[in-house]
Amino acid sequence: MSRIFNFSAGPSTLPESVLLKAQEELLDWQGTGMSVMELSHRGKEFMSIAEALKSDLIEILNIPDNYKVLFLQGGATGQFAFIPQNILQGKTKACYVNTGAWSTKAIKEAKKYCEVLVSASSESSRFTDIPNYASWVVDNQAAYLHYTDNETIHGVEFPDIPEMGDLPLVCDMSSNILSRTVDVDKFGIIYAGSQKNMGAAGVTVVIVRDDLVGHADKNIPSVFDYAQQAKNDSMLNTPATYNWYLVGLVLKWIKDSGGIVAMEQRNNKKAELLYQAIEESSLYTNPVKKVHRSRMNIPFVLANPELDKTFLSLAAEQGLSSLKGHRSVGGMRASIYNAMPEEGVMALVDFMQEFERSHG
Ligand code: PMP
Repeated sequence: MSRIFNFSAGPSTLPESVLLKAQEELLDWQGTGMSVMELSHRGKEFMSIAEALKSDLIEILNIPDNYKVLFLQGGATGQFAFIPQNILQGKTKACYVNTGAWSTKAIKEAKKYCEVLVSASSESSRFTDIPNYASWVVDNQAAYLHYTDNETIHGVEFPDIPEMGDLPLVCDMSSNILSRTVDVDKFGIIYAGSQKNMGAAGVTVVIVRDDLVGHADKNIPSVFDYAQQAKNDSMLNTPATYNWYLVGLVLKWIKDSGGIVAMEQRNNKKAELLYQAIEESSLYTNPVKKVHRSRMNIPFVLANPELDKTFLSLAAEQGLSSLKGHRSVGGMRASIYNAMPEEGVMALVDFMQEFERSHG
């Protein structure tokens, strides 16, 4: 068996111990003689997995009692549509901040359901920074204010929480949830897909404050109505049972590794290593303003784009995979989520330095 360092933006690398645990339990989960995939979602065995999943997430993120924690399907993309349908509450407008490709998609989808006021946009800087909070235009008649905490494609991350008066803050944390501590009580909704920091694809976590639950548009499908799912412990229909189990294993791994504070320290260190290597080089550059650089997705371009192909193929030969940047941005991108070990980042830095010596 040979494992490589996988820098994919998602689905992305998982902790090896999680994969081994899943392998060990594949045929016989805890003496049941069945795989988790084969367990009834209503049986006591799966119920214990579901209960641990929820309580571990609440513990790790320190989620207050006045929030519902839902595990849904449809991805973060689904939430782009389900959020307005759940929480407009008869209002006709919502505020959105546009800091990159994922905010842009969220805005486009929301426009099907309401008027969107773009409170701030960094499009003019080609999404290389976050507009100064003081410049944001917020309408207090709007139902909520949405932003994307980490732009997976552009490598831009909010350094802190933008607090904007009384509007409920709605935040897409798909690519940085569980990577640092967060004051959940500052948010109306936090949502995220599972395939980056939480597990395999197929689970969408929605953490929603109680006052925003129970106001869905009457035409919304029941499975996407927060109130109905909350009442049914996210089991209004058959959930993605095996994927819940995998997220549960990742949460246990986080707890065993020192919790979210340890994750944050490790992530800061890994990101510093890579940004420092980029700063010190004359071959690589990252276009993002320093204070807004993502700790999770680190795009960089080579001074001579003709070297891109060689860079990628030599990297792959050394077991450094999926470094190609998103097609809309070009260049390279290293995604270094929670599960990427520090050795992976060091191996990448060594490779980049060697490549610069031989090709720069
Ligand atoms: N938001 C962000 C920030 C993302 O990175 C992604 C996926 N890369 C999405 C939303 C969409 O997630 P999904 O594919 O699970 O719908």
